[in-house]
Amino acid sequence: MQVPLLDLKAQYQTIKDEIQPAVLDLFEKQMFVLGPAVQACEASIADYCGCGYACGVTSGTDALLISLMAECIGPGDEVITSPYTFFATAGSIWRTGAKPVFVDILPDTFNINPALIEEKITDRTRAIMPVHLYGQMADMDEIMKIAEKHDLVVIEDAAQAIGATYKGRAAGSISHYGCFSFFPSKNLGGAGDGGMVVTNSRQRAEKLQILRNHGMEPKYYHKLIGGNFRLDAIQAAVISVKLRHLNEWAEGRRANADRYQKLFQDAGSLDDEKVTLPPRVLEGHVFNQYVIRAGRRDELMQYLKNAQIGCDIYYPVPLHLQECFEPLGYRTGDLPESEKAAAETLALPVYAELSNEQAEYVVETISSFYRS
Ligand SMILES: *Cc1c(COP(=O)(O)O)cnc(C)c1O
Repeated sequence: MQVPLLDLKAQYQTIKDEIQPAVLDLFEKQMFVLGPAVQACEASIADYCGCGYACGVTSGTDALLISLMAECIGPGDEVITSPYTFFATAGSIWRTGAKPVFVDILPDTFNINPALIEEKITDRTRAIMPVHLYGQMADMDEIMKIAEKHDLVVIEDAAQAIGATYKGRAAGSISHYGCFSFFPSKNLGGAGDGGMVVTNSRQRAEKLQILRNHGMEPKYYHKLIGGNFRLDAIQAAVISVKLRHLNEWAEGRRANADRYQKLFQDAGSLDDEKVTLPPRVLEGHVFNQYVIRAGRRDELMQYLKNAQIGCDIYYPVPLHLQECFEPLGYRTGDLPESEKAAAETLALPVYAELSNEQAEYVVETISSFYRS
C-alpha cells in the first residue's frame, strides 16, 4: 500500500468543481494581481480569524518580513524567536538587519518556552516572534504578558496554524501581527505561493498595504521603501474557495490523530524507547503535521520509505546550528530541547483524506520495525 505524506490530488478531487470556475473567471477578466478577488479573500480571512484587517502578500516568508518592516525593525535590533522552526522565521529577521535571538522550546509542544524569554531581553530587543509549530499554538498569554511588560511587538508565525485556537482565540489574532502561508502543503494551501498578515490595528494595516506595493501612496508617490509583496488574484480565488472547507479538513486531521492514538496503544508500540505521540496541550491543534518522537528515528524513516510510507523530518537541524547563522556564535548544547527534537522527531501522514486502512498500515509498519 502507498501512503503519501500529503495527498493534494485527493483533496483537489473534492473541490475541483468549485476551484475551476473561480480561476477561469479571472482569465475572462484578465485580472491577476490584487483587485477584487484579493480584497474578498482578505475580508474572509480577517473574518475567519476575528481580526479587523488582513493584507494579502506573496508568501508566508514575506508576511513575516513585511511585518518586521512595518515596525521599522532593522540593524541594531534584536528579535526573540524559536530555533526549532522552518528557516523563514529567523531568515526574515536576519534580512531586516536585525539579530535573531533564539530561546529554547518546550519539549511537549515544540513551541518557544516562555519561561526562558525574559532572560534574553536586552535594551535592543524590539519584538518576539513565536511560532505555532505543527498547528498547535504557543503559550500566547505568557508571551503577551512579557511583551506588554517590556513594550515589545509580537509577530505570530502562524504559517502552520491557520484555524488553530488558543483558549478560544484564533491563531494570528492575539498579537500585533499574525502571519499565514498559503504554500500548498499548509492546511490552507494555494496553487502556488501566497501569504497573509492579519492585524487588529488600522494604522498597522494601512502601513502594510502601502509597503506591499513599493511604499506607494498615491500611485508613483513613494512614502516608504516597500517592495513587491502583492498577492496574486489566482491564489486569492483558490484560497477563498478552500477556506470554506478548512474547518472540516482540520476536523479530519484531528480525527486521524485520535485514530493513531488508539492504533498505537492497541499495537503496544508506545514506550520511551519506541514511539511518543504528540501531546495535545490545546484543544485547537490543527495538525498541519503529525509529529512523533521515535527511537532509532533515522532507521525507522528508511524502513517506512521502503514500505512506501511518506514521512519527513521537520526539522533536522535547529536554526542556531545552521551554517548561515554561524556568525551568531551558537554551539551544540546551547539549546538542548531543540537539538533533541531535531534528532528524534518524525512526521507521519495525517491529511484529512487518509483512509482507515492507510492509518492501520502506517501503525503496523512502525510496530513491525520495533519488533525487528
Ligand atoms: C511555511 C512556513 C513559513 C514560510 O512560508 P512560505 O509561504 O513558504 O514563505 C514560515 N514559517 C513557518 C513556520 C512555516 O512553516
